[in-house]
Parts: sequence; C-alpha cells; structure tokens
Amino acid sequence: MKNHYDTIIIGAGAAGLFCAFNIANNKRVLVLDHANKVGKKILMSGGGRCNFTNLNTLYDDFTSENPHFVKSALNQYTAYDFLSLVESHDIEYVEKDKGQLFCKHSSKDILKMLLDECAKAGVKIFKKCEVNKITKDSNFDIVTNIDVFSCDSLVIATGGLSIPTLGASAYGYTVAEQFGHKMVSTKASLVPFTLPKRLLSRIKELAGVSLRVSVSNNKYTIEDDMLFTHRGLSGPAILKLSAYWNYGEEIEIDLLPSANISDYFKSERLKHPDKLLVNSLSAIIPKRVAEFICEDFPVELKLKQLDKPVINKIHKAVHNWCITPSGTEGYRTAEVTSGGISTEQISSKTLESKIVDNLYFIGEVLDVTGQLGGYNFQWAWSSAWCAAQAIK
Ligand SMILES: Cc1cc2nc3c(=O)[nH]c(=O)nc-3n(C[C@H](O)[C@H](O)[C@H](O)COP(=O)(O)OP(=O)(O)OC[C@H]3O[C@@H](n4cnc5c(N)ncnc54)[C@H](O)[C@@H]3O)c2cc1C
Repeated sequence: MKNHYDTIIIGAGAAGLFCAFNIANNKRVLVLDHANKVGKKILMSGGGRCNFTNLNTLYDDFTSENPHFVKSALNQYTAYDFLSLVESHDIEYVEKDKGQLFCKHSSKDILKMLLDECAKAGVKIFKKCEVNKITKDSNFDIVTNIDVFSCDSLVIATGGLSIPTLGASAYGYTVAEQFGHKMVSTKASLVPFTLPKRLLSRIKELAGVSLRVSVSNNKYTIEDDMLFTHRGLSGPAILKLSAYWNYGEEIEIDLLPSANISDYFKSERLKHPDKLLVNSLSAIIPKRVAEFICEDFPVELKLKQLDKPVINKIHKAVHNWCITPSGTEGYRTAEVTSGGISTEQISSKTLESKIVDNLYFIGEVLDVTGQLGGYNFQWAWSSAWCAAQAIK
C-alpha cells in the first residue's frame, strides 16, 4: 500500500528524529511535523550552541511522579553513547561546567547530524503536516491535511507545551488521553520568576545585573548565577529552582554565598573605619546591588558607625533576602514542561504503552523533566533509543 509505513513518528524534534533513524534500517519510517521547519528547539537550545548532553547524568537530575522511571532508558543509552555519535560526525564540542557539553560552533551541527542520519537510513519527513485524527484497528490510521497514512507502530514525540512559537502543542496529550492514558498536571519549568509590581519598581535599576547566589525554597538549595531582569529574576539558579517551586511559595536568596558579610565588616571596620558602607559593600557585591541593599541606611554611613543591630540588618539583607515571586513567565519562555503523560501506563524499558500495543511515547511529552544542563536532551535521546530498539 502506497501510504502504509512500518512506523510513523509524530513530532520531528530531538526525540522523534533520533528515534527515526535508529529504527529505519530496512523499515519504512515516516516522521510528521506540523511546523514549517524541523528541530526548532534544537536550534534555539543552549543559546544557539545546544547543550546536547551532560556526562554526569544521574537519575535524580530528573523529576517525575515515578522517579525510578528514567533509570532503564538512561542505562540503555547513556550520555557517552550520544557523545560517540557526535564524535563520529566530527562535531566539535566544549565542556562548560562539569560534564555539560555544548557544540563549539552551533546547534545546527546537532540538527544536521540527525537529519544526515535520517537521510542515510531512508527516513521520510513531512513538514507542515497537521494530524487531524488517529484511529486504530489492526493498524493505526492517521488522517492529516496531506493524506491518510497507516502504520504498524506509532510513536508520539510531540514534546511539551513550552514556547508555542517553536511548534509546541498539546497534541501528544490529546492522543494519550484518547487511548486511555492518565495525565499528570503540567506547569512551565526551567523558567524565570516574575515579581510583584511594588518589588519590581524597587529593583528596576538592577535589570541586567548578574551575580553568584544561593537560592532556596523549603526543600531545595541551588548555588549558581542569578540575573535581574525587567520582569523579575532569571539565570541558571532561578531556572533550576523553578523546577521545584510551587505558586505562592517564598524563596530565600543569599546574595553572597561565598562569604560572611558580618565577618567581612568586622575586619574592614578596623582597616578602613572611614569608608562608606556602600563603597565597602560594592567591593564584594555588584555596585547596583550594594546600592539597593544600602537604601535603608543613611547615605553617609561609615564602617566605624556600624553597630551590631545595623550589621545584623545588613547580614539579613545580604544572606536572607526573602521574596515571594508573583509567578513565572510561563510557557512563553520556559525551557520545558513539568508533568505530561503519566509514566504509570508506559513501559520504562521500551516506552511502549501498556494499554495499546505498538503505541510509543518518547521525550518531553512524558511526565519526565530534566534539570537545566543537557539532561532534557539526554532524556530525548535515551527514551527514543529504547523505543527504536523495541520497534525493530
Ligand atoms: C529555548 C530552549 C532552550 C533549550 N535548551 C536546552 C539545552 O541546551 N539542553 C537541553 O537538554 N534541553 C534544552 N531545552 C529543552 C529541550 O529542547 C527539550 O526538552 C527537547 O527538545 C525535547 O525533545 P522532544 O523531541 O520531546 O520535543 P521537541 O524537541 O519539542 O519536538 C517536538 C516536535 O513535535 C512537533 N509537534 C508538536 N505538536 C505537533 C502536532 N500536533 N503535530 C505534528 N507535530 C507536532 C513540534 O513542531 C516539534 O518539532 C531547551 C528548550 C528551549 C525551549
């Protein structure tokens, strides 16, 4: 039959493309995507240089209602396996932080590698293809705006909800629910915090300032860089904490995790008694942040005038700045979606549905969320690999 394929994959992103060429040898594989270009998120990722994996990938770098779910896939296809593929394509890469691998030149290298592998394996890819209806009897029948297709195995790789302008849609969830799968409620994750208007107007001068901080909610503490923005707070420390943050929760920020400000003033007071508080603070904290902290004190306050209550107050302002974000920037800018299709009815070894034979769900569409640092792509590669092995 002209329009019959062994496998159809819906979604030509990281997981879909990777799965396609890993099954394709001697199989007819078709990938459908509604966007005008494939792999848009790959191109945007890592600031244009795609943080394609993390060599230190561990199970607890992922959140899911079932934290054990990721183990099998991450063991079957590791970060080192993906790195071998990258090296076999002579793609130059750099290690930023520990184990975090980025393309040296451009994310385009990763997308080109995936597309070259798909071409080599004879994978067909149709863009601008809207799927209108999926039914199953002995095969899956897929009605689209291009044609009606049928296949033996169907793989859903439509990703999460983040950044609709890059092609994100809830279609994978719709298909899962149609076939009786449970959902875990979704939220934007790895996303900047917005702040209440009053606080925002007090810190508007700080937009653009970045500094090393330690941020905590009542469960997690993360030390990394934080960026003040026109809307609130961003940077890796905030994006990472957002994965564990719930609406309405207070966060505590230590603006100087590397030192104890009280000890610093005790010694500075002896060395430079006539130095202004703001100037002394500016020596160890970005000037605009120091000025913000000193707003509550007289401009001319000198180090020799610092008594214990003042030092305590500054200590609190520097090390225990407590704020309650008004929310997050949402799916418009989030890197990923937390939640999704529940893993309860999916095999962790093959990624096949436990309800419907030959139906697979891979990548971000599932209730698996990696931390910032290359973990989400590794999940896309690992889950796609397992499905590809099972389909063979
Ligand atoms: C700005 C940004 C930067 C990121 N940087 C990194 C990074 O450096 N490292 C990292 O590990 N992760 C990063 N991520 C996360 C990472 O991109 C995703 O987790 C990963 O792409 C998920 O792969 P996926 O294949 O499951 O989904 P996607 O890559 O999102 O692919 C889904 C595909 O499905 C298609 N689709 C959706 N709905 C339909 C439909 N109804 N019909 C047909 N096709 C459909 C989409 O067009 C898309 O092509 C970043 C994300 C963003 C948004």
